[in-house]
Amino acid sequence: MTFECDLFVIGGGSGGVRAARMASNLGYKVYLAEGDRLGGTCVIRGCVPKKLMVFASNFKESLEEASLYGWDLNFNKFDWSLFKTNLDNELNRLENVYRGLILSSGVVLFDGWAKIKDPHTVLLDDGREVLAKHILIATGGIPIRPEISNASIGMVSDDVFQMERLPESILIVGGGYIASEFSGIFNGLGVDVTQSYRGDQILRGFDNEARTLVSETMVKKGVKLELNSNVLDIKKEGESVKVGMSDGSERLFDSLLFATGRSPNTQSLGLDNVEVNIGDRGNILVNEYSQTTVPSIFAIGDVTDRINLTPVAIREAVSFVETVFNANPTPVDHEVIPSAVFTQPELGSVGLSEEAAISLEPIRVYSSKFKPMKQSFIGVDEHVLMKLVVSERTDKVLGCHIVAPEAGEMIQLASIAIKMGATKRQFDQVCAVHPTMAEELVTMKAPTRRG
Ligand code: NDP
Repeated sequence: MTFECDLFVIGGGSGGVRAARMASNLGYKVYLAEGDRLGGTCVIRGCVPKKLMVFASNFKESLEEASLYGWDLNFNKFDWSLFKTNLDNELNRLENVYRGLILSSGVVLFDGWAKIKDPHTVLLDDGREVLAKHILIATGGIPIRPEISNASIGMVSDDVFQMERLPESILIVGGGYIASEFSGIFNGLGVDVTQSYRGDQILRGFDNEARTLVSETMVKKGVKLELNSNVLDIKKEGESVKVGMSDGSERLFDSLLFATGRSPNTQSLGLDNVEVNIGDRGNILVNEYSQTTVPSIFAIGDVTDRINLTPVAIREAVSFVETVFNANPTPVDHEVIPSAVFTQPELGSVGLSEEAAISLEPIRVYSSKFKPMKQSFIGVDEHVLMKLVVSERTDKVLGCHIVAPEAGEMIQLASIAIKMGATKRQFDQVCAVHPTMAEELVTMKAPTRRG
């Protein structure tokens, strides 16, 4: 069979672009199709615009704190339209950077949707067919709404970045990363926020002590958090949304946001035409080299629903290219992956939670919850948490959980030591940086508890 290209990548997000550029730089002929904007969820509808909104929303509290430190400041309202114009410009700039990176590495780009016709044929939406030696699916995920009638009245995360005005009040449904991050963002921007979560505590899966502190602090900062709560009924009432809640109340909100999870984006990919196995969650099933059940077809990133984080998709892309195009079979390493939830306060986490570790082996827990110097000085009642979960048998640090401003920055550094297998004794051998919050990580001498 004569192939027109060595690799056809479907999807121009973080994973797809990295794989395409790397394979092209190794001298292979690579095509990439993206029907939406280049950059994918992370750059266009996720991490990047979200983090810029986190920055915007943090200023109110910083300015309030500044006045308690002695600054004479006058500030009024947040101007969403100014922020939105600047955000649109920044996203256009980043999209162009992505386009430039793709083109300069020699990848042939199709601005359109692509579909798989058979194990080696990709059908473009202009009717062209391309014979490719390998096909890589990197189409990411899409937000999903719960199955309630009129759910389409509510926004999903994609819509937040398109809002023409800031709502006065919002109901956010969900308790995961996206719901909890947007609660902090909207609250910081001056919106009256109610967050409704169906379970006992938000951020399920994270260390209990850490997520409890995040949730308590969010409430102190003004988020109306309703736990064990469900939305039963939704109606439009004028410009507002009337919501019937599981506590029997009916309430009006200016806006409604569903952050109730994401689903692998496999619609219209033509997967019925090939024997690619699909999992329970609609995810493409792959082996440790990201290969599907069809040997010429691979899949990386959120469409495989392994660990849905941008840096993981990028690592999966690198492993795929090393394996297929560089004669270096490289399984994807999904162990000890740090992550940060950009709630207010931030949560940085790596390794096992106390609860997960206890279910595996005897542990020691070192946990320090304290008022940080900056807030303590001005009487703000806020705590941070520095926590290590340590194996009793090996002394290895199994997990680290930080709730604090800039916890994301701190966990990135702590995760280097933890990935290297550092022991608690080695943490203790490191000299503290004083005065910092993170110095607690190397100064906690006695265990808080054993389990
Ligand atoms: P998550 O899966 O984290 O959270 C979904 C939330 O919605 C859960 O609280 C879930 O409840 C709830 N939920 C699901 N279905 C329903 C329903 N029918 N009715 C009511 N509630 C429901 O998804 P997200 O959308 O928040 O995030 C998706 C992924 O994106 C994350 O897993 C993460 O990997 C990634 N992400 C990472 C970020 C970061 O690194 N900072 C930021 C944003 C996203 P329950 O817990 O009971 O299942």
